[in-house]
Amino acid sequence: MLGRPVALALVSAIFLAVALWRSFRVMKPVFQASGAARLDRPLDRLKGLWTDVALHRRLRRKRYAGTLHALMFSGFIILFTVTIESFVGGFFPHFSFAPFGEATWLGLLQDIFAALVFVALGMAIYQRAVIKPARFKSSNQKDAWTIYGLIGAVVGGLLCEAIFHQVATSAPSPWRPITGSIAKLLQTSGMSPGAALQAQAVAYWVHVVAVLSFLAYIPGSKHRHMFTAIPNIYFRALDKKDELPAIDLEAGPIGVSKIEQLDWKHKLDLVSCTECGRCEEVCPANAAGLPLSPKKIVMDMRDHMFAGGTCEGGLQLVDGVISDETLFACTTCRACMDACPVRIEPMTKLIEMRRAAIEEGEVEPMLQDALANLQRTGNSQGKPAKQRAKWTQGLPFKLKDARKEPVDVLWFVGDHASFDPRVQEITRKVALLLDAAGVDFGILYEGEQNSGNDVRRVGEEGAFETLATANIATLAQCSFQRIVTTDPHTLNALRTDYANLGAHYTVLHYTQLLVELIDADKLRLRQAGGKVVTYHDPCYLGRYSGEFDAPRELIRRAGYTLQDMDRSRENSFCCGAGGGRIWMDDSAMTERPSENRIKEALALDGVSGFIVSCPKDTIMYRAAVQALGVEDRIMVQDIADLLVIEEAVAPQEEQTAAAAA
Ligand code: SF4
Ligand code: SF4
Repeated sequence: MLGRPVALALVSAIFLAVALWRSFRVMKPVFQASGAARLDRPLDRLKGLWTDVALHRRLRRKRYAGTLHALMFSGFIILFTVTIESFVGGFFPHFSFAPFGEATWLGLLQDIFAALVFVALGMAIYQRAVIKPARFKSSNQKDAWTIYGLIGAVVGGLLCEAIFHQVATSAPSPWRPITGSIAKLLQTSGMSPGAALQAQAVAYWVHVVAVLSFLAYIPGSKHRHMFTAIPNIYFRALDKKDELPAIDLEAGPIGVSKIEQLDWKHKLDLVSCTECGRCEEVCPANAAGLPLSPKKIVMDMRDHMFAGGTCEGGLQLVDGVISDETLFACTTCRACMDACPVRIEPMTKLIEMRRAAIEEGEVEPMLQDALANLQRTGNSQGKPAKQRAKWTQGLPFKLKDARKEPVDVLWFVGDHASFDPRVQEITRKVALLLDAAGVDFGILYEGEQNSGNDVRRVGEEGAFETLATANIATLAQCSFQRIVTTDPHTLNALRTDYANLGAHYTVLHYTQLLVELIDADKLRLRQAGGKVVTYHDPCYLGRYSGEFDAPRELIRRAGYTLQDMDRSRENSFCCGAGGGRIWMDDSAMTERPSENRIKEALALDGVSGFIVSCPKDTIMYRAAVQALGVEDRIMVQDIADLLVIEEAVAPQEEQTAAAAA
């Protein structure tokens, strides 16, 4: 009969060879792909590992799933000491962690964490079999059940090993409250040391073979994220501008139409997906009944990659594996990217594929019209450039032309705020606020063109570059300190996309500037009477630009009581207009995201105001309130609507008082 070291060496060699072969097959497309190395800012990268892996920051957003994952994760770290001891001890029988406290505190930890892994396993089984979250639909169930079985075998094996060892040595340890108590029970029920020794040997092999099976199984399953999540998080894009770097339009094919065009990081994303469905759960396009699930996108691309970039019927990636309807359903709200616990980027993959689809001329008619307008007039409405500053005509003062004279603050107004009659009144209110605060500001008049943010997210990189280059050239002729805008989409383009083209500006959202002015006592507001309102975080101000507090601060400073919706701040729910969706047909939706959102606000007690801070939100939510027929229950207002200048109302009050006298 083979001795334990020889048998262990043989079994380990077989299973490890399988594990390595399966890992090689999975990782081959990643290693073969091109793309820039991401070796900069190692400390920032490690910080992400600390928060996302060690502290489970993103996973803990779901309390139940986060708890079970944290228990499993910490249990595996502690129990790794047992596995090391089993393998090393298999070759060197005198090896043990006893000098490092295995007979005392380490043994205690091993006992407790083994029990906690079983608790976590029970929670996972309960979640999958009883709770059945919708986000698991279309995930690989067989994989999950196989891994539960293997975890049960690993931990069950090592627990039994510890129990029988204590019976065999007739020394149940007081430091091992669980295995020690069971060992005592077996002893008192008559188990002999000899029988325990045999049982320990069986448990040893169960444990060892289960660990090896686990290692061999994992590379071919979604649970490989246990290993790939760490590099995937480490090599993440550190800044928003790195997520969608500028591309060289002359350099070759634009976008990604074939799987082999993906760079190594996108491919590492694909092999790291845990199929948890958190991205799908927060996707507004998915909730609207459109054929888009970020989870399915990642899974389908991964399967296509594993199939060598070919599939039945010779389908290609774009308009094959991923349909145009799916690609153009995305609002680029980023919710999927922020929800993913392993930092996968479904949205940037969609944009890459949109670029290829646009190159092929696969554009729906409404989008085609908007893009044609932009090309012809520099704005999506197709209005003559001369009319861009027409909204200023209702103001009691003339706005400076920043192209002709220096200004402290250059106001990049944006298309909707300039041209859309539903928003122009708000634009004028902002102008009055800035003027009342004594801000030295001006606009670009017809020199301004669409910032190109949504054009770029639609995938029309050429049109974006034309618009951005024109704006950058105009801005280069102006003298200013900072740029302000009411449009979060414009804010993002000027801050990140233009930075990628080498143009760097200090750009503020108007809510940030107004808070600054109030803090400096340059703007005094009249207090409202405590009306309860809720606030919608625009995707491009919140998730993209990290600003959640300035709008809330303004609402409070104006004297309103703010009640947040459940889906607020980072977890905000998109209005459905971003990523060029505002220019596209929404008739295929089962429920518009904006209507879904208004219903969420209506469910709050006593809320009568729905406050926004983005021109597109004003348009989307006013239409939603109208479509739902709830104008009498909730009013959509921009933050600027809430801010009443103290000085401006004083004369009116005096008149009223005089009239009353
Ligand atoms: S960016 Fe938003 S709309 Fe697009 S796939 Fe992600 S969650 Fe869905
Ligand atoms: S992409 Fe991320 S959030 Fe979506 S299913 Fe995969 S791991 Fe989960």
